[in-house]
Amino acid sequence: MSGEIETKRIPKLNLGRFPTPMYELARLGGALGRRILVKRDDLSGVSTGGNKVRKLEYLLYDAVDQGADIVLTTGGAQSNHAMLTAACCNMLCLEAMLVLKGRGVMGRAGNLMIDELLGAEVRFVDTDSYGDVYAEMARIEDGLRAKGRRPYHIPVGGSVPLGTLGYVDCAREIFSDALEAGVKIDRIVCTAGSGGTMAGLLLGALLYGDGCRVTGVAVDDGPFEDVVAELVNGAAELLGRGDVHISASDADVYPCFGAGYARPSKAGLEAIRLAAKTEGLILDPVYTGKTMAGLVEMCGNGKIGAHETVVFLHSGGIASVFAIDPADIVE
Ligand SMILES: *Cc1c(COP(=O)(O)O)cnc(C)c1O
Repeated sequence: MSGEIETKRIPKLNLGRFPTPMYELARLGGALGRRILVKRDDLSGVSTGGNKVRKLEYLLYDAVDQGADIVLTTGGAQSNHAMLTAACCNMLCLEAMLVLKGRGVMGRAGNLMIDELLGAEVRFVDTDSYGDVYAEMARIEDGLRAKGRRPYHIPVGGSVPLGTLGYVDCAREIFSDALEAGVKIDRIVCTAGSGGTMAGLLLGALLYGDGCRVTGVAVDDGPFEDVVAELVNGAAELLGRGDVHISASDADVYPCFGAGYARPSKAGLEAIRLAAKTEGLILDPVYTGKTMAGLVEMCGNGKIGAHETVVFLHSGGIASVFAIDPADIVE
C-alpha cells in the first residue's frame, strides 16, 4: 500500500463481516506453477455470502438515508445479488421486491429457495432483455409511489458508482493484508459479471496498489471495458478523486464465458473440480468457476507471468451449485 491517500469518506452501513480472510492456495498454486492467494469474499457474513454485501453496505445506507421503505432490484432467476439484497433488507427491516428476468423458470432450487426462506417478494418478467425488466420495475415503482410508498431502485448487480465503492474497500483490505504478510501482489483476478466488482478493485489498485494489475474474467458477452471504465471514473468522482481517470482500453478483460451467461461450461466445471480437489474450495458454475477457468488458461498461455503473485477473488455464488442441471453443461 503506497501510503494513505486522501479520499472523501462516503458513509456506509455495517452489514457484513470484514475483513474477509486471505491466504495462499499452495496446492492449487503448485498445480498452476504460480503463487496464488484467495480472498474469501464468499465468507462476507450475510446469508450464503458473496460479493454483493460490500456494494449493498453503500447502496442501502443511501436507501435508508432517503427514507425508503421498500427496495427493488433485479437479476437472473438465480441472482446472488437479488438474494443478498433481500437478506440485507431483512437486517434493516426493509421490504425487498426482486423483479427477476426469467423465461419459464420452474421449481425453486438454489437462490430461489433462499429468496423464499428470506420472505422476499419475487416476481418474474418473462423476457430476455433487461430493458423489459426495467420498464416493468418503473411501472411497479410508480404504482408504489402512488400508494404513498418510498421505493429505492438498485440496478442489476448493484453496479453503479456508489456500489462500486465496496470493492475499493476490498482492494484496500487486500493490499493492507499483503503488506502485513510481506507479500507483493502483482495481479488480482476477479469475475466481471456486471462490472462493479472489477471496477472497484481496479480503482482500489490505482489508489493503493503500487502497480498491481486487475484482470476481470468476463462470464458474459458484453462491452465490459466501457462499463468498467465508466464505473471507475464515476466512483473516483464520488471519492473526490476526479484526477484518477481511465479509458476503456485500461480495463483488462479476459473472456471465458463458454456458451453464455449462466450456462455451465466444461472448462468451468473442470476448474471447479480442480479447486475442490486441491484445496477443498468450492466455486460456483456461473461466476467463480469460469473465472478460475480463465485463471488456469492465463497461467497456461503465459498471460500471467511465471513469477507473478496472484490474488483470486472468491466472490461467492455457492447456492447456484444446488441449481445446476447437468443437462445444461455445454462446451
Ligand atoms: C455478481 C457476482 C459476480 C460479479 O460481480 P459484478 O460486480 O456483477 O461484476 C461474481 N461472483 C458472484 C458470485 C456474483 O454473485
